[in-house]
Amino acid sequence: MTATMQAIVFHGAGKWGLEEVAQPTLIASDDVLLKVERTGICGTDLHILSTPPGHPATPGSILGHEYVATVVDTGDSVSHLQRGDRVVIDPNITCGLCQYCRLGMTNVCERMTTLGIFRHGGLAEFNVAPAKSLHRISNDVPIERAALAEPLACVWHAFEKTALVPGESVAILGGGPIGLLFLLLFKSAGAGKVFLVEPADFRRQQAEALGADGAINPKTQNAASEIKSATGIGADIVVDTVGSLLPEALELVRFGGRVVLFGLNQHAERTISQYYPTRYEVTIIGSFIQRTAFPKVVRALESGIIPVEELITHRIGLAELSDGLEALRQGTAIKILAHP
Ligand SMILES: [Zn+2]
Ligand SMILES: [Zn+2]
Repeated sequence: MTATMQAIVFHGAGKWGLEEVAQPTLIASDDVLLKVERTGICGTDLHILSTPPGHPATPGSILGHEYVATVVDTGDSVSHLQRGDRVVIDPNITCGLCQYCRLGMTNVCERMTTLGIFRHGGLAEFNVAPAKSLHRISNDVPIERAALAEPLACVWHAFEKTALVPGESVAILGGGPIGLLFLLLFKSAGAGKVFLVEPADFRRQQAEALGADGAINPKTQNAASEIKSATGIGADIVVDTVGSLLPEALELVRFGGRVVLFGLNQHAERTISQYYPTRYEVTIIGSFIQRTAFPKVVRALESGIIPVEELITHRIGLAELSDGLEALRQGTAIKILAHP
């Protein structure tokens, strides 16, 4: 009789459930069997589980792409990990063979697949992942801090593209988990004033508690004039974590500053004046997931300089996933961790 486990299984447009499924086993020689410790629920999960879905996923897959786990068993060719090691997972599996992988742009690999979206992920008691997806992290790191490695890695990739100079001012559009991770990272890296623009009261309060120099409500305040009066010329760096706010970002950035586009929204088609970034030398930078951030994120989490666990507002079991999703939809949660 095969052993079973509980898992959140996606079945296509609006259909999913907590089910009893077979426990995974090692197949390929580079496979690693993992006991999942914690799994973050993210905006992408919300998009996958919406009707109609706002993000594709493969029916039959176990969801959950932000997880931390302990190694239970390894395939024959795995030498860098052993039973009992704690690992964080880079869920995006790249081919290594396409032109973009060979150019070093693995984040736009033409044959990328993702654990927890197109293959089985971490909303289950056990998971099997290829060894190259796993980054060892000290067992001394608090488990809830380690659970935020994946979103922090994506934020880290965008952060590196900003080439922050200590003392520079930053405006972050959107105060969800990603916006707040940017806040913590910019602050720990020596940014000067960091502002957050967010309509939800709860999220602005979180931003202030986490050290934002100003949390601006765009519904009642003029963000451009607030930031201009606080900085004199506008923010050196503006980050759009929402995915549709390029025109607003251009209003906040100083001449010669950088705008980083992080949020993803396939339907956003905003109009900007092409004259403006040309005339005022504004750099617009796209950023998508990450390439080489995991080793740096692991070091930062082990050192404790970025207290990412402070973003966790809800802890749930798999059976409470729909409540968790509802809290995310209502904007009453920041980060939700499931304990499979
Ligand atoms: Zn995610
Ligand atoms: Zn590739």
